[in-house]
Amino acid sequence: LGDPTATTLPAVANGSPGSKVSSKPSRMVQPSDFYFGKELGSGSWSTVMEASHVNTGKLYAVKILSKAQLIKLKKVKYATIEKDALVKLSGKHPGVVRMHAAFQDETSLYFVLDLATHGDLADLVKKHGSLSLRCARWYTAQIVDAILWVHSKGIVHRDMKPENVLLDDELRVKLADFGSAYMSTDGDLSPRASSFVGSAAYVSPELLDRSSKTTSSSSDIWAVGCTLYFMVAGTPAFAAINDYQSFRKIETLDYSFPDGFYDLAKNFVQKLVVLDPSDRLGVEPKSSPSQLRGHPLFTEPVDSVSPEEPAGMPI
Ligand code: ATP
Repeated sequence: LGDPTATTLPAVANGSPGSKVSSKPSRMVQPSDFYFGKELGSGSWSTVMEASHVNTGKLYAVKILSKAQLIKLKKVKYATIEKDALVKLSGKHPGVVRMHAAFQDETSLYFVLDLATHGDLADLVKKHGSLSLRCARWYTAQIVDAILWVHSKGIVHRDMKPENVLLDDELRVKLADFGSAYMSTDGDLSPRASSFVGSAAYVSPELLDRSSKTTSSSSDIWAVGCTLYFMVAGTPAFAAINDYQSFRKIETLDYSFPDGFYDLAKNFVQKLVVLDPSDRLGVEPKSSPSQLRGHPLFTEPVDSVSPEEPAGMPI
């Protein structure tokens, strides 16, 4: 399962997160360096726990992956990809969750992450039913900024969905869960063969096409459009009774907007949730990241404040 010392970041190992990297070799981080608290969430082969660092008291989220489960479910590759992607991206963009250390013991792998105190975007939307346009715009702008930066580093997330958009104590976005990511060695993110990864309601049609099954950064752009739809409508665009039905709806672009869906958001969704990956807003060469950033959703004034806006939203 790899050498844990390779990703042991001295900031935590030395007991002072955020401090300058020491020139002295640091002791390896281990589970006994943390007091483990409540469970924050769980995924298909992991559990995420709140944990405080014994020496500093600083709070983290520690993602714990059972080695036995990873081996049984043949998911070791996913854990390695997640670690490698986070090592590459960590601490370089505010919109990507930071990994402070990674280590292992006999039973588990541990990723020490920034604690997202406001949970994930899916829970926030479920709590409020749906979000106001101002609020949905606030999150979408940050998601777009973060995902375009991830792409610029030669990585496609491939599992973009509201559950993987974490929110910190200032309700700022932190993209997480890079276990399905595609990492290019040469920065080339053009379409290439891929097996299905991701989540049914957010998977792009090109990944369902048996004859091509290609993925590219455009697949994340599709999912960003679906994520905005979810924030405004309160349900996924391609929700269905089972995954098979979701896939059929995705392949035929079978979705509709509920009454009252904001026009600016509708226009944004219609430009991203497009069957042909090369026709999506922001995707080169027909469009560009700056055209995506310049969509009227982000530039038009929006002054209505709805009661469902989360308290403390900083705009
Ligand atoms: P999946 O099966 O959906 O791919 P996973 O096994 O990769 O999930 P994560 O998505 O990384 O696991 O985490 C599961 C849940 O744990 C998240 O949806 C979120 O609610 C919570 N969580 C993950 N990381 C953090 C964090 N850094 N801070 C707070 N909560 C977190």
